[in-house]
Amino acid sequence: MFDNLSYKLDRAFKTLKGTGKITEINVATTVKEIRRALIDADVNYKVAKEVTDKIKEEALGRDVLIAVSPGQLLVKITQEELTQLMGGSKEEISIKGDPAVILISGLQGSGKTTFSGKLGAYLKKQGRQVLLVGCDVYRPAAVEQLKTLGSQIGIEVYAEPGNQNALQIAQNAIEFAKKSGKKTVIIDTAGRLAVDEAMMNEISSLKETLNPSETLFVVDSMTGQDAVNTAKTFDERLDFDGVVLTKLDGDSRGGAAISIRHVVNKPIKFISTGEKMENLDLFYPDRMAQRILGMGDVVSLVEKAQQSFDEDEAKRLNAKIRKNQFDFDDFLSQLEQIKKMGNIKDLLGMIPGMGKAIKGLDIDDESFIPIEAIIRSMTPQERGNPSLIDGSRRKRIAKGSGRSVQEVNNLMKQFSDMRKMMKQMNKMGGAQKALGAMS
Ligand code: GDP
Repeated sequence: MFDNLSYKLDRAFKTLKGTGKITEINVATTVKEIRRALIDADVNYKVAKEVTDKIKEEALGRDVLIAVSPGQLLVKITQEELTQLMGGSKEEISIKGDPAVILISGLQGSGKTTFSGKLGAYLKKQGRQVLLVGCDVYRPAAVEQLKTLGSQIGIEVYAEPGNQNALQIAQNAIEFAKKSGKKTVIIDTAGRLAVDEAMMNEISSLKETLNPSETLFVVDSMTGQDAVNTAKTFDERLDFDGVVLTKLDGDSRGGAAISIRHVVNKPIKFISTGEKMENLDLFYPDRMAQRILGMGDVVSLVEKAQQSFDEDEAKRLNAKIRKNQFDFDDFLSQLEQIKKMGNIKDLLGMIPGMGKAIKGLDIDDESFIPIEAIIRSMTPQERGNPSLIDGSRRKRIAKGSGRSVQEVNNLMKQFSDMRKMMKQMNKMGGAQKALGAMS
């Protein structure tokens, strides 16, 4: 996410390195570089100019403390200004009414249907009874897609195949929700490839008639300036409440995230960073600014870990580690937990300093595939008792998993090192302490 922009901004700050103080002359060069980096990242020119003018003004007005270099101070100021530009603080969606209606709008392919499912799963996790409604009457596949998502996350989907009247479907769905005790209704609407009158009429009439508690506009962040323009057009007609930025896991240059709030003056409420149902995050302007500047985002990382962390599973593992019984099944279960946290490269990018270090590195969930394949080729007995795995068994496992014997040997070595470390930890009482802290 934003690798390129982070890199260019970092280079801009470096132009100040070595200078002892901030002057009109040296800050001008750096600020010009920052502006160029933002424009290259598809930030609207006016927005880029405004923000860099502010950065300059702030920088010249502040004393450089002995503890920080002018470069560090400028990074801090830039972070503050970007945070303000993206809205300052987090904004939640409003869920009011019985049922509360949430209307999802956006162009075709922006990720509306996927987001509707994610939002449903997110609200269900908070204990809400959710109904998903397929109102895309032009693309039957969209309703099918919603149904598939619904069954995956255990949420009922209301649809009326064959009915071409989106408003009628939505109204029937709301009646159905009342009868079946669903308190939150998420309505996925039809998009088009580009803004057109019929789509705008349909979505505005849905909004006027249904009076939703929240109307969200979903937009693909990879479309850069177009995303900002589309947001503007939708907002003029729809006066939506918030923006959902999708596909931030892709090769996004960051421009949309930075400009949308400022140009449209509506808060970004969610960001989506992948196709999986759990790839959804609330939008925190300060954390996003830190991420853009390559400063990492430890707070989000910790929260993600907490969300994905299964406490009972952790206790079970801890007990096994304590008894020196950690086996390959436990190893697999740990891998699953890590994968649940989302895209590995994005996760690593949240660690300060890692963003730059892993730029260009090819790591993703796929990196686990060979390890998983090897473990899954072991028999249950072998997984539970790895000391059984001798030379001939290693050959068989390699063959079964389609990996080389060398790879199997490497994994066995890693596993045995891991067990040794755990044993050591046990001797020092580390596991007991950790277990005590958890219970
Ligand atoms: P809709 O036409 O607006 O309903 O869009 P869809 O929900 O069908 O999404 C279009 C495509 O984008 C699908 O292939 C989704 O899997 C994919 N998609 C949606 N959100 C994300 C995201 O955050 N990241 C990535 N990489 N793909 C996404």
